[in-house]
Amino acid sequence: MTERQKPHEQDAIARRSNFEAVEEDLTPQQVKLEAQRCLRCKNARCIQGCPVNINIPEFIQALKEDNVQKAGDIIRETSLLPSVCGRVCPQERQCEGKCVLGIKGQSIAIGALERYVGDKSSAKNSAIKPSGKKVAVVGSGCAGITAAADLRKAGHDVVVFEALHKLGGVLRYGIPPFRLPRKFLDREINTLKELGVVFKTNVIVGKSITLKQLKDDGFDAIFICSGAGLPKMLGVAGENLNGVYSANEFLTRVNLMQAHEKHTPTPLKIGNKVAVIGGGNVAMDAVRTAARVGAEEVYIIYRRTESELPARLEEIRHAKEEGVIFKLLHSPVEIIGEGGYVKGIKLEVMKLGEPDDSGRRKPVQTGEIVEMDVDTVIVALGTGPNPIIQKSAKAEGMDIETDRRGYIVVDVEDNKTSIPMIFAGGDVAPTGESNAINAMGAGKNAAKAINEMLKSA
Ligand code: SF4
Ligand code: SF4
Repeated sequence: MTERQKPHEQDAIARRSNFEAVEEDLTPQQVKLEAQRCLRCKNARCIQGCPVNINIPEFIQALKEDNVQKAGDIIRETSLLPSVCGRVCPQERQCEGKCVLGIKGQSIAIGALERYVGDKSSAKNSAIKPSGKKVAVVGSGCAGITAAADLRKAGHDVVVFEALHKLGGVLRYGIPPFRLPRKFLDREINTLKELGVVFKTNVIVGKSITLKQLKDDGFDAIFICSGAGLPKMLGVAGENLNGVYSANEFLTRVNLMQAHEKHTPTPLKIGNKVAVIGGGNVAMDAVRTAARVGAEEVYIIYRRTESELPARLEEIRHAKEEGVIFKLLHSPVEIIGEGGYVKGIKLEVMKLGEPDDSGRRKPVQTGEIVEMDVDTVIVALGTGPNPIIQKSAKAEGMDIETDRRGYIVVDVEDNKTSIPMIFAGGDVAPTGESNAINAMGAGKNAAKAINEMLKSA
């Protein structure tokens, strides 16, 4: 059988100093070869692996017939973000992870094919029959733009409120351009604008406007998908020193505010030796970004081994190729400072113990402490929900139920919150692994439930 086709990648040394895409699109010849590998399974397991259930065998069939636009039309019946998803979905755990060819060999490169189709085809303008209903979407990340598209297609007036000055949520401020070039994100957001979705930036729901005001303004339903932007820190001594960043702040300042550039009003001081704490995709994004903004030595500090790293295999491979050093089985116990600035980090050597609830072997302390010289520490241990919306809603008598960690509690079936007209999804109301495509799945789910509610109103 033909080998799985691989996109050409930018040379690792060259790309360490630029923000250009690491991977190119497959060539048309590669697309044809890859499409021909697909068995067009009747009971396509790949579709079950996709949280938005894209009709994968059919769009691949259109590629076999050299009809890229038809492939695009098939994908866009379900998702308006093929260029984004083809780049940022963890395909090996989703669609490709279920592909039958992956059982004994190499799964179809669904993500690379979808990305090609997204880039090379256009969205069609479909006629919209006005429903006379208004829906507010709070947040313009994956869940928000997906829900906005489905709600608009159902005829509702949709207004998306974004707290930042640019649209896209974590796709914009979190994911670096070398993984998701901005022209593709902009193009897919423009498709929504052409559909008639209204976007309002610099509006913090809970501060600039409250949920009650939205309700009083005549919105018939509200979908909260404001993400989880509150960073989790280490809780060790030295965390307040200059040179310690959360990955959230670091990535936002580089991706959104170009804080690393020479003539920026908001400069970012990054040292020569940077330690990133964590092993997920955000940690990989942060460490690879640190290398690109001038750090000479970049480290990942992770308390388990490589087999337990939660980041995508491809991101780990790319990081290694770019010279990232993985310091595994080490856990920070103190950040050492001098004159108010980071000078080093103390790490405890760990070993693996019994598996924990997640099935991964638990890191166990050994008592052995080592020190490393670093001048910047970036903490990438995840984020929690920002409580602004929930707090302001409560003050106005709209008590949205949250769990003990502050996440909004929703019904998994329909993303309903404890307040009938309010729905929530994505990282602010997680119902599965936190990633772009699961957030999109939540956006679709919520839009379907909102449509049903508004139809019966
Ligand atoms: Fe796979 Fe993501 Fe595309 Fe679904 S949206 S088919 S999970 S790449
Ligand atoms: Fe094609 Fe794999 Fe899906 Fe079968 S499971 S239709 S081979 S992509």
